[in-house]
Amino acid sequence: MAVGLDEKLEPIYQDVLHRNPGETEFHQAVREVLESLGPVLVKYPEFADYKIIQRICEPERQIIFRVPWQDDQGVVHINRAFRVEFNSALGPYKGGMRFHPSVYLGIIKFLGFEQIFKNALTSLPIGGGKGGSDFDPKGRSDREIMRFCQSLMTELYRHLGENTDVPAGDIGVGQREIGYLFGQYKRITNRYESGVLTGKGLDWGGSRARTEATGYGVVFFLEEMLKVRADSLDGKTCVVSGSGNVAIHAIEKIQELGGRVIACSDSNGVILDEGGIDLALLKEIKEIERRRIKVYAERKPDSLYTENGGIWDIPCALALPCATQNELTEKDARTLMANGCIAVAEGANMPTTPEAIERFFEAGVAFAPGKAANAGGVATSALEMQQNASRDSWSFEYTEARLREIMTSIHSTCFETADQFGQSGNYVVGANIAGFLKVGRAMVAMGL
Ligand code: GLU
Repeated sequence: MAVGLDEKLEPIYQDVLHRNPGETEFHQAVREVLESLGPVLVKYPEFADYKIIQRICEPERQIIFRVPWQDDQGVVHINRAFRVEFNSALGPYKGGMRFHPSVYLGIIKFLGFEQIFKNALTSLPIGGGKGGSDFDPKGRSDREIMRFCQSLMTELYRHLGENTDVPAGDIGVGQREIGYLFGQYKRITNRYESGVLTGKGLDWGGSRARTEATGYGVVFFLEEMLKVRADSLDGKTCVVSGSGNVAIHAIEKIQELGGRVIACSDSNGVILDEGGIDLALLKEIKEIERRRIKVYAERKPDSLYTENGGIWDIPCALALPCATQNELTEKDARTLMANGCIAVAEGANMPTTPEAIERFFEAGVAFAPGKAANAGGVATSALEMQQNASRDSWSFEYTEARLREIMTSIHSTCFETADQFGQSGNYVVGANIAGFLKVGRAMVAMGL
């Protein structure tokens, strides 16, 4: 059952429902933030006067465009792409591009909305935005991906700029796609504008530790959350859903810090490896060969692959959902807790349903929301922008140390804000209020 909304906030939420029909993920993301903001309006009446909440809920600009492209057989395909420039109070719009058949305006709006608060929490000068397309990269050749990215950028370039809007990757968009996108931007504009995209390769303006940043950052946040409870990762059994960039690097950092990851997954099935996931094998299959995770079990017969398996049925102390939205349901939450789970950290965006989060709170399970826990990715994107602006390139050690500092600071900001508003240990409330205050204050300062 959802928490009730404050009487001032209910009409704002109803208005969001009315103006954005059918966009259920966007509604869910807005509702979760509004549920945290009741006490803020009491303390800061100027936010109500300036209609800051209503303004934050309405994107500054939404771009929808056609992407025609040709496959290797010469067949023409038409996809739809989006860029939602949500809020620029703190800096240029910043957020990834997602290529997945499930993409529609409601998904991009939920992600863009989350990105506003996430980016604010990093304390770096970045606004919130997000984009993507319903293009399905699965089974597509390298050349097909290239042609798709070039066609998409042929329209998108006019909306971008290092001081305007700076996309990066998300599901289905990694360094390869960023390369094709950047190449086309450079060709069209005749500008080597490094800071216009992040997640670039190291030879052409990328930042060290950017690939690792989201996954590592989630684990740094989890470590801080466990520290508060006088606990640590050492010797803990962990389950990480997904097997993309975020999952792989979360697994890597957990293993480095002494945890034991026994399971991961893709959209087809689950791998259980009681001896601990073999990271080198996982990277070879996913990053080099770009194949499905079931190949892992073929190469490592002491592991078990279950088609359509439920990853949250596997007993663990720490759960890290790093695949996609709403992948961890109320039933999963109950199973996890019955099996002894003590903490959950979201590597993906909004992977836990509101009902599941409620169950975790009731039971006192430590819960880190994605907009705080996975902010390391976009924070390191902002560090990439800093390096681009100063035409510099930092060492891995320095960049990772900056990332760690940022994650520690996001953790303490969320923890202290929750405490100030009488909700000790509630990182959802802490993240929402702290992120909202930064953006809201800037909006008030800049007038209507
Ligand atoms: N897609 C990532 C996120 O959800 C990273 C965005 C970026 O680096 O701009 O935060």
